[in-house]
Amino acid sequence: MEIRRSPFTGEHALVSPHRLSRPWQPEDFCPFCPGAPETGHGWDVLLLPNRYPVVTRSPPSPTQEELFGAEEAYGQAYVLVETPQHDVDDLSDLPLRQIEKVLRLVIKTQKEAEEDPRAIYFLFFRNKGREIGVSLTHPHSQIYVLPLVPTRVAVEMQYSETWYKERGRCLHCDVVAGETRRVVHHNEHWKSFVPYYARWPHEVHIYPKTHRSALTELTDVEVTTLADALKCTLCGIKNVLGKPMPYILVLHQAPLRQRAPHYHLHFEIYGMYRPDGRLKYAAGAELGASLYTLDTTPEETAERLRKAVAGCVTASGGSSR
Ligand code: UDP
Ligand code: ZN
Ligand code: ZN
Ligand code: FE
Repeated sequence: MEIRRSPFTGEHALVSPHRLSRPWQPEDFCPFCPGAPETGHGWDVLLLPNRYPVVTRSPPSPTQEELFGAEEAYGQAYVLVETPQHDVDDLSDLPLRQIEKVLRLVIKTQKEAEEDPRAIYFLFFRNKGREIGVSLTHPHSQIYVLPLVPTRVAVEMQYSETWYKERGRCLHCDVVAGETRRVVHHNEHWKSFVPYYARWPHEVHIYPKTHRSALTELTDVEVTTLADALKCTLCGIKNVLGKPMPYILVLHQAPLRQRAPHYHLHFEIYGMYRPDGRLKYAAGAELGASLYTLDTTPEETAERLRKAVAGCVTASGGSSR
């Protein structure tokens, strides 16, 4: 178990051979249901240490080769069980108050991670749908507390910093304020839109309208309204094609303990169906060359998603609460 880094691209691979033995979509037993060996009873949201972690508090010594030095796989991996109910399809199907509980548990976990000087980055993500390889369908998200800044975030931070140095403003604040054509949903504090620079067929980013670099900087009401932004946006993605869409959700934020005037937290959601309902695969161009191919414009995608979100709001009683 160790972390290897490409000297060519700076990208990391978390090498954890013990993960091969983890269970895969078992029919008869769910480790996240109430009453399972690690869960017990009497909870609404539950943070579990990942049984098959990619990083750990006491990692083994990494291998060293002449040209390469691996890093210790130091950190913590958690599973966040979002509801005791096994058969809920998606986060967006939970009541707002339950989504808010999930968010407050994430923030509490991040505050605890900040206390550890070796912890550098707090990665929160959620994989939805068997089609994209989810191994357990009980609603859950995941947290990796990492000893490094993931490359994609590092690259975003570099571009954002250059903009900030040249103009004295946060690039993300400018993008959010200027975004009108591709908006999918917004409330008092949050805006969801298909980015101009989308890479995936149903990609939506959710931003706080006020500059915040990390989840721990959100105000109380921003957490409450974030639950609404997530619920509405994910519901739109679920309904837009008339069948639940597999997606990946990931939080991009500044590294732990770093107040960044140039980097602005945001959720990125990649809905993985193409407009015709077929699964989009990352293949030659995407994986081999970081070249993304879209079969439709982000503007057209935004229009369809905006209508789908409007349908969700009506279905849930007309208000955003
Ligand atoms: N897992 C766990 N306890 C178990 C069974 C599985 O912590 O008893 C973890 C497993 O290591 C995996 C996660 O639960 O990381 C399920 O995650 P998901 O299917 O979203 O994606 P994966 O991490 O498998 O790609
Ligand atoms: Zn379950
Ligand atoms: Zn900003
Ligand atoms: Fe980002």
